[in-house]
Amino acid sequence: MSVCNRLRVNLFKAVCSRKRIAATVLLCVVAVGFPIKVHEAAEVVTLPVRCLPTSQRIVALTYDDGPHPVYTPKLLRILRHYGVRATFFVIGERAQTWPDIVRQAAREGHVIANHTYTHRTDLESLSPSKITRELSRTQSVIGSLTGHRYDFFRPPKGFVNYNLAMTARANGYRIVLWSVSADHHEAKTPEQMAERVIERVRPGAIILMHDGKFAVRWRDVVATPLIIRALRKMGYRFVTVPELLDRLEANKKQRTR
Ligand SMILES: [Zn+2]
Repeated sequence: MSVCNRLRVNLFKAVCSRKRIAATVLLCVVAVGFPIKVHEAAEVVTLPVRCLPTSQRIVALTYDDGPHPVYTPKLLRILRHYGVRATFFVIGERAQTWPDIVRQAAREGHVIANHTYTHRTDLESLSPSKITRELSRTQSVIGSLTGHRYDFFRPPKGFVNYNLAMTARANGYRIVLWSVSADHHEAKTPEQMAERVIERVRPGAIILMHDGKFAVRWRDVVATPLIIRALRKMGYRFVTVPELLDRLEANKKQRTR
């Protein structure tokens, strides 16, 4: 049975057995985002995107939890030096606190995306109206600072359940997670973080890093050039998350032809 069909069956069983929490787990482990009918009488959920299935050596660098007054400008300098465009999943209230950094990142070609307004790690258990407010407040900050709004977001910690997936869908958002995390308790140094990425990277990967909130993020800054240089040597090219999503859509259209 293909991965997709297995997933459909599992989701069907999970929802039909009234254990929607099981659907939550499934939502978190699936790589490809596309609509799946989970129950003949129930809604259609869109699964989170973790990567782009492709044979092309492209990857997306993503940074969460910023902006940060020290680390984000340092990262911007590094990315400019290497000519790499990244995707920054910013926290709305931090973007409001440091608007110039967000403007600068957007001016330099980076994508500024939604990571909720207050970074509540229980986002998935909030009411749909509270979730919507977290997303729309951040969208409006990003829109006013950059002139761009994207129809995707990343929930804090990557926690997703049925409630969040349905609320995202109702508001026209896709959920974007990641397939490789540079940050891990076993990767204590920038070199170990880079090694972790190099070992796990695949074509179409979305790489998770952080620029915000904690002092320890200096490691992400130092790891970034190590990762860029190593992946380029492996033949990888860097794209933004919207570019990956566009390719995902194009692939879907080709499959359904
Ligand atoms: Zn976060």
